[in-house]
Amino acid sequence: MNGHQRDGAGAANGASTSEWSPSSWRTRPIKQQVIYEDHSAVNKALTKLKHVPPIVTATEIWKLRRALAEVAQGKAFLLQGGDCAELFDYCNDNAIDSKIKLLLQMSLVLIWGGNKPVVRIARMAGQYAKPRSSPMETVDGKQVPSFRGDILNGYPLDQRDIDPDRLVQAYFHSAATLNYVRAELASGIADLHKPMEWHLGHVGDPELQRKYSTIVDSISESLRFMRTVGADTAGQLETVDLFTSHEGLLLEYEESLTRKLKHPSNRNVPLIMKTASAPKVSPLTGGAMTDKSIQEPETTGYYNTSAHFLWVGDRTRQPDHAHIEYFRGIENPVGIKVGPTTSTADLTELLDIVNPRKEVGKVTLITRYGEGKVDELLPQHIEAVRKTGHTVVWQCDPMHGNTRSTTSGIKTRSFASIFSELASALRIHKECGSFLGGVHLELTGDAVTECTGGSQGLQDEDLSLRYETFCDPRLNEKQALELAFLVAGSQRG
Ligand code: PEP
Ligand code: MN
Repeated sequence: MNGHQRDGAGAANGASTSEWSPSSWRTRPIKQQVIYEDHSAVNKALTKLKHVPPIVTATEIWKLRRALAEVAQGKAFLLQGGDCAELFDYCNDNAIDSKIKLLLQMSLVLIWGGNKPVVRIARMAGQYAKPRSSPMETVDGKQVPSFRGDILNGYPLDQRDIDPDRLVQAYFHSAATLNYVRAELASGIADLHKPMEWHLGHVGDPELQRKYSTIVDSISESLRFMRTVGADTAGQLETVDLFTSHEGLLLEYEESLTRKLKHPSNRNVPLIMKTASAPKVSPLTGGAMTDKSIQEPETTGYYNTSAHFLWVGDRTRQPDHAHIEYFRGIENPVGIKVGPTTSTADLTELLDIVNPRKEVGKVTLITRYGEGKVDELLPQHIEAVRKTGHTVVWQCDPMHGNTRSTTSGIKTRSFASIFSELASALRIHKECGSFLGGVHLELTGDAVTECTGGSQGLQDEDLSLRYETFCDPRLNEKQALELAFLVAGSQRG
């Protein structure tokens, strides 16, 4: 454990987080480190971030915790999606609306397919930091710093230096984005009575239009019936929850928005597996001994108030490193990317560190092996997790293991490979007596041409038509909806 002692008998035996603090990650080795040059500018930015109000609240975070506990038990399905790298520029009403509508359309299809509620998490309102395989890249024969996300530097070549002021800009773009999402949801954008108004913007495909309309018609009919029998009065159908998420990569930012808050009163404590025992009496005094296991539940905890859900990336999930140290202390639900290089030993250690009390649905394992590796690796990981007694959300990210370069050097992914990994994950979970809890996708509401395939039949040569991503290739609106239909189809039959 890198010489850093966790208290008690170690994390695996239910250690508390007494030695943890929002800044304790600073004592650990770190990957993807950012070297800032202007320390006084960084300190000024971080001081500002420590002062501004939370973007999300503890009550909302627990609402998602409870929803994910349902997912972990197979009673709901998780849809998570958005850009690979969100730009400050995407903080714009049209860009936000099209993503909300796409997530709503997809979730409608998935509800129809799985016959269970769908929990929606957007990769939005804070997905500004990107891990890179190399800090430098070659552009036009010249070595330049890689683009590391808008929270650090800009994509244009004259903005590649790290700029500490971007930390504060990230907060305000994140807050403005979520403010608009909240306003749109409160104004009825997600009203289930009008899903045809979530226009299938760029999806001109008549077959997809027909399939979608069929689902909407059957929902409308059910709603009419409910209204007739007086069951449509609770205001439940006018809006939905849409949670936010990003990769918890830039720990200076995450630390500054981590706050010690009172737990909400409706925290679902029964989900916590307690090690409670009968009160102990001291043999010397006859008085009650102070024992951690019989203390009253904590009334406060540390919440990352920058997003409801954070995940740790495939490059930064080393059990003894800084990111996992930070992640083990926060109350938010957390995701861990699991890839071809994740050993079963690391996986079980990570779960014990991040979730020592084995709280149901606290951790989402986001598997991203690649279509050719999922068959070999997923069953081993399912078995390893089963042995630990942790109840996790199993989520498939069919994007990151399936990236390839075209002969002209464009980064892309084929729709067929993406669906193949997803279909394999669904099947393998079933074969192993487990179940797939959700999907994690990179997508956009626009008609971009970044991934090949789908019913449009995009070829490598078509990618340059509208290749707009600044990081990984995303599914366009049509491909994303098609994928939702394919998943729904496998769930139904
Ligand atoms: C991502 O989700 O954009 C990402 C970088 O993924 P991974 O950490 O799985 O490579
Ligand atoms: Mn990505």
